[in-house]
Formats: sequence, structure tokens, C-alpha cells
Amino acid sequence: MALIVQKYGGVSVANCDRIKKVADRVIASKKQDTDVVVVLSAMAGETDRLIDLAGQVQPIPDPRELDVLLSTGEQTTISLFAMALRERGFKAMSFLGHQVPIETDPVHGRARIHDISTKRLRDVLDSGQIPVVAGFQGISPDGDITTLGRGGSDTTAVAVAVVLHADLCEIYTDVDGVYTTDPHICSTARKIDRISYDEMMEMASLGAKVLEIRSVEFAMRYGMPLHVRSSLTDNPGTYVVAEDETMEEVLVSGVTYSRNDARITITKVPDRPGIAASIFNPITDANIVVDMIIQNTRAGDLTDMTFTVPRRNHEEAMEIVKKVAREIGAEQVAGDKDIAKVSIVGVGMRDHSGVASKMFDILARHGINILMISTSEIKISCIIEEKYTELAVRALHDGFGLSKGAAD
Ligand code: ADP
Ligand code: ASP
Ligand code: MG
Repeated sequence: MALIVQKYGGVSVANCDRIKKVADRVIASKKQDTDVVVVLSAMAGETDRLIDLAGQVQPIPDPRELDVLLSTGEQTTISLFAMALRERGFKAMSFLGHQVPIETDPVHGRARIHDISTKRLRDVLDSGQIPVVAGFQGISPDGDITTLGRGGSDTTAVAVAVVLHADLCEIYTDVDGVYTTDPHICSTARKIDRISYDEMMEMASLGAKVLEIRSVEFAMRYGMPLHVRSSLTDNPGTYVVAEDETMEEVLVSGVTYSRNDARITITKVPDRPGIAASIFNPITDANIVVDMIIQNTRAGDLTDMTFTVPRRNHEEAMEIVKKVAREIGAEQVAGDKDIAKVSIVGVGMRDHSGVASKMFDILARHGINILMISTSEIKISCIIEEKYTELAVRALHDGFGLSKGAAD
């Protein structure tokens, strides 16, 4: 019998009516002689609400206790969902992370899955029941509850699909697939029928939160096909699959944006060997990930360095860099959080030149100044002022012919 893992996001289980509708959907799949394992998120907004509650009690919440709290969001939905299935005459059983168990490392708030036992899930499937698994959570080697990071239910679903050798992992969300850009900020965005793992991974890492990046990594590594679709319609969504020749015909597949970065500039740094290491080593030691780096040489053996860090680490990184600046005799450290990263992604870029200059032209024509640039084989990213984010996304989307009607 075919086996499908179906993951439903927060909007799909936002209230009891939605939960009942999704239960009907799962039953419809089951009736087509398909075994189904369900993975659920918390109700829409619930994880944010819990984070806010924690912040009211302890401004920087204890990571272990925060994970205990956040895991309750998914506990609510899986139990209600199992009840909805039972009410419809189908046997179902809910599972928290530790009941599966889904074993992770001990890093609270961004744990990585190490192993998932299939024994209980298999037994439940073999007895004709529907397992309903809590997304986003696991158990550490010490037996503590861990969570995987925001959007982590996608990763749970793909990992469960991989260990059970499922035929397909379906990700049900509030849009009916992966679009050429976020349909909520660009009304001319188009649904993509098929996208390669590589492109999806770039899009996810550059801000398209429709899939969590680690879920795409898992899917790619184990060749698990994904189908991203809406829980409100029966329309086919987007298949995320291995690349084939037809995909290279498209130059740019998607445009993404992210407001998760901040910029730090350190000026008049003495330009000598080892200076970059003395700036970046302490940042890395604090577990802060530096993304783009630009170095500009000045006259008189001096240099300026500009780099980006995650916005949530900006204050901490600024403190570290100010201290280093004093030690190495640099002139000044400046920070800027009002930036955004806009990117274009496409496997077709590999064999075409001129894509970057076209991107810069489009931004220039709209009066948008580029602050930093980074490229890889299949993506180009520009840091711009945050206030231009939507304008830049729409301009690039249009300029690369992705808008509805443009290529039809
Ligand atoms: P879920 O709660 O189902 O996991 P998310 O909110 O995590 O849903 O992801 C879905 C959202 O991703 C959409 O509502 C959309 O605004 C956003 N999104 C960003 N980029 C894209 C894209 N390229 N295609 C589709 N959705 C996108
Ligand atoms: N509930 C978690 C979150 O909001 C996990 C998820 O929805 O994927 O981030
Ligand atoms: Mg999500």
C-alpha cells in the first residue's frame, strides 16, 4: 500500500472547524487505499502567543523551559485532530516527539534530528490506525523536550517520511504551492508546477518561508519528493523534485526577500595579515553567523569592512566588534538594521551571463541603491534599504518576466 506523510501548517489547523475539515481530507486519502501519517503544526499564531507569554515572565526565557512551553502548541492540535478522526469512525493515535521518539541533539530552540524510531509508527499503521505526530519537537539525549526552530514542522514531516520510506511528503499550507515570489506581497506571482531541490533550498534560505530550509535539505539528501499544496482546494500544488533539463530553460525561477539581516561597518582598520581573523573569530566564537562580507581598501594601509549578521544577533555582534575595534585601533563601528536582502534564484543562471547586470539595472531604474552584493552559482542577492523591499521584489519579478501573463 502507498504511504503518504501529510503535514498541515498552522492556518490549516487554526480552529476546530478547520481541524474537522482537514480530518475529512485525511480520511479521503485513507479511503483511496493509502496509508497516511499526519504531522501537525500548532494553531496559527499559537507559537507566537507562547513566545510572548514567556517574554512577559522572563525577558530572555530559559531555553529549556521555553521548549517545554512551545511544544504545547502542537500537543493541542494533535490530540484534537486524533479526536476528530475518531469521531469520524477512524482509529487514530497522537504522538508527541518523545513518544515516537524523535531523538535530537540537546540544542534548545534549534535542535537537529538525529534519529526517528519507526517501531511505534509502523505498529500503529499496521493495525490500520492513523498516527498523528507533533511537528517541531523532539527529545534530547537527557530526555528533555527540544524544538527544531521556527517552521520546524516541515522538517519533522520530511524526516518522518524519509525514515518510513514514504512515497510522498505533502506539505499543506495557506497558499496553493511555491510561487515565483511571495504571493502575499506580489499579486502577479505565479505558481510553479515543478521546482528543483537546489532552487527550493536557495529560495528557502533566502526568505521564502513556505518551506523550512532543513526540510528541503533532508528531502534532497534522501530523494524524497515533496508536494506543496493548499489544504483548502484540491488543485495540484508544486512538486519539489530532482532537477531535469527542462528546468534549465528558465533563467530565473523565483524572487525572494528577507528582513532577517543587519549590517555592521568597521572603518579605518589597519590593513595587515590576520586582521580579518581578529575581527571574525570572536563573532564566530559567540555562535553568530556572518553572511556577506565586503572589504574596501583605503589609502595609507587602512581598510573598511562591512558585513551582515542575523538581525537577532545584531546588538551582541556590535558589542563584540566595538571591543575588537578598540584592540586593533580601528576608527569607528556603525550598525544598521534597516536593511533587506532581495535575491533572484534559478538553475538557468549557471549557463547565462548578464543576469547580474540585468538585476542591477532593474534596481537602478527604480532608484534603489545596492548596498552589498553576493552571488553563487544559482542565485544573486543584493542588500538594499529595507523601505524598498516590496518595490524591489515587484520590480525584479516583473523585470525577469515572471509576472502572470508575461510568459504565457
Ligand atoms: P505554514 O504555517 O503552513 O507552515 P508558512 O507561513 O510557514 O505556512 O508558509 C507559507 C507562507 O509562505 C505563505 O503564506 C507566503 O506568504 C509565504 N511565502 C514566501 N515566499 C513564498 C513563495 N515563493 N511561494 C509561496 N509562499 C511564499
Ligand atoms: N509551530 C511552529 C512555528 O510556528 C512550527 C511550525 O509551525 O512549523 O514555528
Ligand atoms: Mg511553515
